[in-house]
Amino acid sequence: MFFGMKIFIFVPNENKYINMCGIVGYIGKRQAWPVLVEGLRKLEYRGYDSAGVALVSAPGDMKVYKSVGKVADLERVVAGKDTSASTGIAHTRWATHGEPSTVNSHPHTSMDGRLALVHNGIIENYAILKQKLADKGYVFSSSTDTEVLVQLIDYIQTEGSLDLLTAVQLALKEVIGAYAIAVVDRDNPDVIIAARKSSPLVVGIGDDEYFLASDATPMVEYTNKVIYLSDGEIAVLRSGEQVRIVNLDNVECSHEAQTIAMNIGQLQKGGYPHFMIKEIFDQPECIADCMRGRLNADTCSVVLSAVNEHRERFVSASRFVIVACGTSWHAGLIGKQLIETMCRIPVEVEYASEFRYRNPVISPSDVVIAISQSGETADTLAAIELAHSRGAFVYGICNVVGSSIARATDAGSYIHVGPEIGVASTKAFTGQVAVLLMFALSLAKETGTISSEEYTSTVASLDAIPDKMRQVLKQNDYIAGMSRMFTYARNFIYLGRGYSFPIALEGALKLKEISYIHAEGYPAAEMKHGPIALIDADMPVVVIATRSPLYDKVLSNVQEIKARGGRVVAVVTEGDTVISSLADFSIQVPAVPECLDALVTSIPLQLMAYHIAVCRGLDVDRPRNLAKSVTVE
Ligand code: GLU
Repeated sequence: MFFGMKIFIFVPNENKYINMCGIVGYIGKRQAWPVLVEGLRKLEYRGYDSAGVALVSAPGDMKVYKSVGKVADLERVVAGKDTSASTGIAHTRWATHGEPSTVNSHPHTSMDGRLALVHNGIIENYAILKQKLADKGYVFSSSTDTEVLVQLIDYIQTEGSLDLLTAVQLALKEVIGAYAIAVVDRDNPDVIIAARKSSPLVVGIGDDEYFLASDATPMVEYTNKVIYLSDGEIAVLRSGEQVRIVNLDNVECSHEAQTIAMNIGQLQKGGYPHFMIKEIFDQPECIADCMRGRLNADTCSVVLSAVNEHRERFVSASRFVIVACGTSWHAGLIGKQLIETMCRIPVEVEYASEFRYRNPVISPSDVVIAISQSGETADTLAAIELAHSRGAFVYGICNVVGSSIARATDAGSYIHVGPEIGVASTKAFTGQVAVLLMFALSLAKETGTISSEEYTSTVASLDAIPDKMRQVLKQNDYIAGMSRMFTYARNFIYLGRGYSFPIALEGALKLKEISYIHAEGYPAAEMKHGPIALIDADMPVVVIATRSPLYDKVLSNVQEIKARGGRVVAVVTEGDTVISSLADFSIQVPAVPECLDALVTSIPLQLMAYHIAVCRGLDVDRPRNLAKSVTVE
């Protein structure tokens, strides 16, 4: 696998960290294994690539079982083995550091096998901590950031002859990053220590027993009394004793147990009715995660490890060729504008399916950029193979760690937005755009084709993007109401210019995918070369008309549509009065530099497609005829 890991160089902001993997824990009088495995199954919806469990039955007796694949695979590994224990922790992993493999699966243990730990999140300064521990003689068996944490706790505890809680507190003070963790000690089956920072963790309170999980779904059949841990809190769970919640300085934190009223289905979707709307709303946090450890707001800089490690290949590229399919292809179109504008290197964007059969002109001085959410897209993989056979260097952008594309490429960046469950891509699209932005910015810095003022102001604006996205999401109710008017529409046109043209294409694709309404995206100026013949009162037109140098041109396009009786939905910049007064509906997005527009303008179009599909009574998460990852040609 050639994907470099992120370079971790700064203390990130305190954004909520989400999405990844699942943690389950149990301590009490029941057999832990059935509770844990059932719990893992309830968390399966979150997406994962491997699973594991640690069971402590008596002092000195801890069993750890792990498996790549599904929870059912873990069950096969455990079948026939000793599972008698009333204390245990379990995990489903969504790999971020190191490919999905048995050795990289959680729980991770300290070198002497005494401590076992499960972790959700990313330890950003793991490399520095790992080096320090290696210097003290610690040996690591996995490539994860998580193993570093369990070894660190062990080191601190052993060195200082401390109790486990104190060692966990001290270790977490050294950690930069996001985590939910649970730790057990082979020599003490009577305690589980759990902690969170920017990653969810819930304690369930039963009768002389405790449950622990990433959300409440694994515990609802046993108890409805829960405590949602806050950032910086540590829970000490001992069966038969009151739960203790303290902070890293050992100050007691007070918590009233809450009663949960949601059912499992609602809980799994974070209270949302569908995964798609949850994923749309997750975007501010996802983009913060995507930029975590890469964009440093304090020094106003962006560091992508791929660009660092392969600087020469990128800087000397005669041309970039982006290969992708569907939504990723739309992200590629935005990438083209970003790279050409900032780096002044020519970029072509190709459908991977066309590229692979077209005998394209590719030379060793070309750099091919392959974009795919799943990293398994068959056409994109074939395009990579072809590019390699012509001697090109291939850089990949995908979401799934250890996927085929991650392994087939020479360099790469993960988008780190967590598993995407809804078939219609939303957060993966904005994640791809965010990575392309960081790629263009870091490369432009190397090629010297961006002024330092523009670089600094773009980085600062990118850092502020999660908040801007939150602002857009506040208009969900307005968009839902407006969408109702289009429930029975049969066709739609989407228009945009410049950076907004790919957003028009992506908006149209979203609508087609989940509402089955025919929709076409065009560059706004192309309308008069044909599509304008279609305009009448039955042809709603969505126009992306944010403030840009082409605003006046788009205004003329809107006037042309209105003159022909068309109904216009305009996405405009906050404070806009001109296009807003012409449009039938207008959705305001905050002002951002033009190159970041896609990150805010794509959201209302995702919401609109979602609400129209819901009004039509369709299965938004599993639209007909579509697969989440297209592994066939
Ligand atoms: N960063 C950890 C790993 O790669 C945890 C990933 C997760 O949240 O599942 O193993």
